[in-house]
Amino acid sequence: MVPPAESPARPARKRKSRGEGQWALGHREPLNGNERSKKDDNPLNVRQRIENIYAHRGFESIDPADLRGRFRWWGLYTQRAPGIPGARTSTIEPEDLEDSYFMLRVRIDGGALTTEQLRVIGEVSQTYARDTADITDRQNVQLHWIRVEDMPTIWQKLEGAGLSTTEACGDCPRVVLGSPVAGIAADEIIDATPAIDEITEKFIGDRSLSNLPRKFKSAISGSPRWDAVPEINDISLVGVVHPEHGPGFDLWVGGGLSTNPKLAVRLGTWVPLDEVAEVWHGVVQIFRDYGYRRLRNRARIKFLVADWGAEKFRQVLEDEYLGRKLIDGPAPETPTGQRDHVGVHQQVDGNYYVGVKSPAGRVSGSTLVEVAKAAERVGSRRVRTTVEQNLLVLDVPENEVDGLTGELAGLGLHSDPSPWRRGVMACTGIEFCKLAIVETKQRSIDLIGDLERRLADIQGEIDNAVTVNLNGCPNACARTQVADIGLKGQMVPDGNGNQVPGFQVHLGGGLAIDAGFGRKIRGHKVTSEEVGDYVERLVRTYLDQREDGERFAQ
Ligand code: SF4
Repeated sequence: MVPPAESPARPARKRKSRGEGQWALGHREPLNGNERSKKDDNPLNVRQRIENIYAHRGFESIDPADLRGRFRWWGLYTQRAPGIPGARTSTIEPEDLEDSYFMLRVRIDGGALTTEQLRVIGEVSQTYARDTADITDRQNVQLHWIRVEDMPTIWQKLEGAGLSTTEACGDCPRVVLGSPVAGIAADEIIDATPAIDEITEKFIGDRSLSNLPRKFKSAISGSPRWDAVPEINDISLVGVVHPEHGPGFDLWVGGGLSTNPKLAVRLGTWVPLDEVAEVWHGVVQIFRDYGYRRLRNRARIKFLVADWGAEKFRQVLEDEYLGRKLIDGPAPETPTGQRDHVGVHQQVDGNYYVGVKSPAGRVSGSTLVEVAKAAERVGSRRVRTTVEQNLLVLDVPENEVDGLTGELAGLGLHSDPSPWRRGVMACTGIEFCKLAIVETKQRSIDLIGDLERRLADIQGEIDNAVTVNLNGCPNACARTQVADIGLKGQMVPDGNGNQVPGFQVHLGGGLAIDAGFGRKIRGHKVTSEEVGDYVERLVRTYLDQREDGERFAQ
């Protein structure tokens, strides 16, 4: 409002600048509840309280600051109480929806598991998690229905097998994504496994990195297929050959989705394998020290990178954290083909790996046990998880391939899936997630069968999987914006004056050669019931109208 002319101008009130809450600029005093909680007590300390107190006294004894904050550093979130529909509103907070059971995330760095580890996860699920298990699009496995009373035993079993839930969630370095075919793929530029191992051994659980502004997501892959989604991680190291120095990694920072999506940017530097952990550590420290802590929705490194730009970020990394200049390097070639590793492929040693598609990540503990047994029967001891919620069995002799693929198909895990089965992905959704607005997992599983029936006549005309990513809310855990058809859960009109569960559609997103965010098309909102109709219409229109070789994302 413009003040009347005769009003004396009010002197501007001088407000004390709180900046963005960056520690390196002197803003050490916590500026919100999350920051206060982390300062009050290092979140990693909660493990002792779980083992010594909460596991004995039960759910009701848990301090709310531990329950809704620090538990996450050990992979634990309360899950949504069953039967509560709808979303968080101004009067309903996530804690109003919580159950006394937990989701437990088991971190699987690089997606690398032995068959023995897979069996242990499966058995823990059978005994303590009502046989639930979801493979996530960050190569983890999530279990549900976990009781705090069982956590000491669960940790004993998981850790006894070399597995961990340390920093699987929380404001800390999360699982390090890696190529599921590291060390075995014929087209590999460089095997990143030693770097991932060094990072997890040295820095996961390191208290100097356990209070970051928010989560920190890493991807390190030497595959030319960019199979660890480097475009959308906080830090990515992408295999590339330097003309003088040979194979190493291109360093990218600042990617991420959620409500403010950004693609990672290159810093223009080449990093040799034995320096990856040091450079990774430097970038995490920049995030810790310069990351924005005042507002939680600006506390990801992508906002700092967007404000600084690549040049300044690289300079700070070199001058303040590494104490040396990095080598300039070339950009990796952008891949074009599939990167999900589904199917049967030969390894460099002459054996084969079998990549199978899970139905939107939903498996079970029993299924994981059976996969471990099937793999061992053919002489394999290694399995992998992928960022498309798939499983790979490595080291399969040629004469065992057919038997194994048949056995896995019997478990619902297909190595030759239809384009629809191959392309559908889903987040946790309303079944267990307190932030969800709509159901996603069962909807996705139903959608796969529905599309296989509806589109059976044109299956052969689709060369690549059409990706359909179902998300229960705007947080985009299943990568809404980089799918051919990205579905974001919300309440939508049903045409009869009612608001019902449904999705806002984002069309034409992609990664690699199609890197870009799907367009939110005004009016493209579908009820959950209508998703099959909608996808069918869209795919048939695409096939009718596409020009030579035109991909869906174009
Ligand atoms: Fe939960 Fe939303 Fe993430 Fe889905 S996208 S898992 S509903 S926070």
